[in-house]
Amino acid sequence: MRQSLLFTKARKEAPAGEVAFNAQLLIRAGYIYKEMAGVYAYLPLGIRVLEKIKQIVREEMDAIGGQELIMTALQRKELWEQTDRWDDEKVDVWFKSSLKNGVELGFGWSHEEPITEMMKHYISSYKDLPIYVYQFQTKLRNELRAKSGIMRGREFVMKDMYSYATDEQQHEAFYNGVIEAYMRVFERVGLKDDTFVTFASGGAFTQFSHEFQTITDAGEDMIYINREKNIAINEEVLNEETLNDLGVTKEELTLVKTAEVGNIFNFGTLKTEQLGLNYVDNTGKNIPVHLGSYGIGITRLMGVIVERFADEKGIVWPESVAPFQVHLISLCREENDKKQAEEIYQKLKASGVEVLFDDREDVSAGQKFAESDLLGIPKRYIVSQKTLENETLEMKLRTKDEAEFVKIENIYV
Ligand code: ATP
Ligand code: MG
Repeated sequence: MRQSLLFTKARKEAPAGEVAFNAQLLIRAGYIYKEMAGVYAYLPLGIRVLEKIKQIVREEMDAIGGQELIMTALQRKELWEQTDRWDDEKVDVWFKSSLKNGVELGFGWSHEEPITEMMKHYISSYKDLPIYVYQFQTKLRNELRAKSGIMRGREFVMKDMYSYATDEQQHEAFYNGVIEAYMRVFERVGLKDDTFVTFASGGAFTQFSHEFQTITDAGEDMIYINREKNIAINEEVLNEETLNDLGVTKEELTLVKTAEVGNIFNFGTLKTEQLGLNYVDNTGKNIPVHLGSYGIGITRLMGVIVERFADEKGIVWPESVAPFQVHLISLCREENDKKQAEEIYQKLKASGVEVLFDDREDVSAGQKFAESDLLGIPKRYIVSQKTLENETLEMKLRTKDEAEFVKIENIYV
C-alpha cells in the first residue's frame, strides 16, 4: 500500500473529548474514526489489524471443530420473552425498534436465543451432536458508559461461539478445550503472560463462569491473582467459600486492574429447556441439549493490545496483528533513486512481505519518522541516496532505539 494514496492522514492531536488512550492513538494514526461516543468506524489501516486478530481467532476456533456462520442483527422479541431476557429490567443494554406494522424487534446484543432456536431445525438425535458454531459479528449494546475507547463500544465486534452437547461430560470436554484454544489466541497476540483464566460469577448450573482477564490500567475490572499458583479470582466472587474451594488464602493474592477480553459460560440445559431444544438419545428418550457460550471481544482485544504495548511515541503492534510487517520509508529525491526505491517496494511485495510504502514527496524526513512511530509497524526500512550508494537500507525495529544498515539483497524473504 502506498502512503501517498492512503486517504487517512496522521494527526498530532486526538479529537477533544476522546479520553481513552487507545482511541486517541488509533484515531491520530488513522486506524479508526470516531462517529460518536462508543461508536467507531474502522479505516483501511484499522481493518487490517482487525482482520489479523479475527484470523488468529478463526484458526483456533476451527482447530477445535468450530463451524463459522453469521446470525442476523435483527432479532425476534418472542424468543427473548421465552427466556425472560426481553425486559429492559433484565437486560439493560437492549437497543430496540419496531417494524412499520408495529411488531417489536431487538438489535442483537448477544445471540444465545436465536441460535438455539435455529438449532431446533438441525438437532433431533444424539447422532447430530456435538455441534460447535461461531461467528464474528457487530453487537449493539446501549452501554451506560462508553469512556474506554474501542474497549467498550456501543457497537463492537465480538467472536461468539456456542456449543451443543448431549450431556455434561460431552459439554465439559469441549469447554476445557476452549480454555486452551483461548489461551493460544492470547499467546499469539502477545498477551499470554498478562492474561488470566479467572473465576467469575455466573454459569447456570455451575458455581463459576470463566473470564479471560488481561492486566491493564485501562481495564474496568479488578481481580485477585497468584502467578505461581496460576489462580485468578474476580473480586465479585472473592469470599471465604471461594478461597476454600480454590485452596488459597487472601494473603497470597494480589489485586490488579484488568480488562475482560473473553468470557465462557455453561448454560447447562436452562435455555434449551426454555426454548424447547431437545434430542432423542439411543434409548428413544427426549432430552434437553447442553448449551455453552463463549465470547471474545475482538475490538476490545485490539484496544487492549494498543494499551499494553504503546510507548510515548505511539502504537507498537506485535508482529502477529500488525497492519504491515514493514514500513518502507523513502527519502529519495533524485529520479534514479526514486526508481530504485520503487523497485525495492515491488520486490518486497512480490516476496510476500506486507509493506506500507511511504512514497510521499512533500513530507519531511522528521515527520515521516514521527508518523511511522505513531503507526507502530514492527520493522522500518529507510531508503535514501546515502543508503543506496552503499546498496543498503537503514533498518530499525519499532521496539528498539538503535538502527543498523542491511544489504538490500538480503531483505527479500
Ligand atoms: P463487560 O463486563 O465488560 O460488560 P460482558 O460480561 O457484558 O462484558 P459478554 O457479554 O460476555 O461481556 O461478551 C463477551 C466479550 O465481549 C467480553 O468478554 C468482552 O471482551 C467483549 N465485550 C463486552 N461488552 C463489550 C463492549 N461494550 N465493547 C467491546 N467489547 C465488549
Ligand atoms: Mg457488559
